[in-house]
Amino acid sequence: MEYNTKCLIIGSGPAGYTAAIYASRADMHPLLYEGIQVGGQLTITTEVENFPGYPQGIHGVAMMEDIRQQALRFGTQMRNGEIVKVDFSQRPFICTDDNNDIIYADTVIIATGASARWLGLESEKKFNGYGVSACATCDGYFYKDKDVAVIGGGDTATEEASYLAKLCRKVYLVHRRDELRASKAMQQRVFNTPNIEMVWNSIPIEITGEENKFNKSVTGLKIQNTRTSAISTLNVDGVFIAIGHHPNTEVFQGQLELDNEGYIITRPGSSHTNIPGVFAAGDVQDKQYKQAITAAAGGCKAAIDAEHFLQENA
Ligand code: NDP
Repeated sequence: MEYNTKCLIIGSGPAGYTAAIYASRADMHPLLYEGIQVGGQLTITTEVENFPGYPQGIHGVAMMEDIRQQALRFGTQMRNGEIVKVDFSQRPFICTDDNNDIIYADTVIIATGASARWLGLESEKKFNGYGVSACATCDGYFYKDKDVAVIGGGDTATEEASYLAKLCRKVYLVHRRDELRASKAMQQRVFNTPNIEMVWNSIPIEITGEENKFNKSVTGLKIQNTRTSAISTLNVDGVFIAIGHHPNTEVFQGQLELDNEGYIITRPGSSHTNIPGVFAAGDVQDKQYKQAITAAAGGCKAAIDAEHFLQENA
């Protein structure tokens, strides 16, 4: 099948759904592909307490469903599935989905997000959202006055450790080598924070916890020393994985300007990519803030930029 749309939105996190709300209210009749993880990264967290408008907090899944319903209310056409191929060399742009349907799009808003890298442990999957997190700003508050571990040695890990140190009783920063990759300034901050303890040359081998019919919780992190092979356990209530993110841009390689880590490059202060008519919003082009609210704001900008583009190229 072949379809035409004024605005194709790829991705269903806060950026994609917000772009859809704005684009549909501007009569652009957007078509939105929700991708494999409908609702995006927030659907793998538990409680969201820092998104304005929810004074009591809200579950990530429920919040994304709210934003989705808002986009549907104004007539966004939602599709299950993924865009697997794009051709941005001509307009309308030609995009192919995983059902081999072809979409001819006058504008495209890319909001495919980024995915946290995970260790790949079975126990990490089991306790994800119940003591295992990849976002201290999102989930740190639940560990107030408790002990936690952060895994990683880069800027993200050191920032997460510093953030958590203000809330938690103790933070173990577990790194696989004996020196940090993070900037010198972040290293100093970590070393000068009394309640952060470095755990060098250590790799996580299991996250331990308790589970009953109603709940799950983490009780510890089993680590192995890479030099001595000794195994020990840190008694912690939370484990924050901070071993990097990767932007979901594989499908756009060769079609758009990406930076050396694969993030889409947008013109500062806007959602414009190097291809006129193609816009990007949210974590797929943001490696600094990575928040639901900044992604939503990006989606809003992208829809407005797309609307202006359609007016100028009518
Ligand atoms: P990085 O790739 O810089 O660091 C990832 C860290 O995780 C490394 O220390 C790495 O160890 C470790 N690691 C990777 N895989 C594993 C694994 N399987 N098991 C255990 N440890 C692992 O990612 P970041 O997210 O920290 O940073 C990404 C980019 O964003 C960087 O360019 C960073 O500078 C930037 N950034 C900037 C910030 C700022 O300026 N405020 C804040 C956050 C990020 P090893 O060192 O041994 O490779």
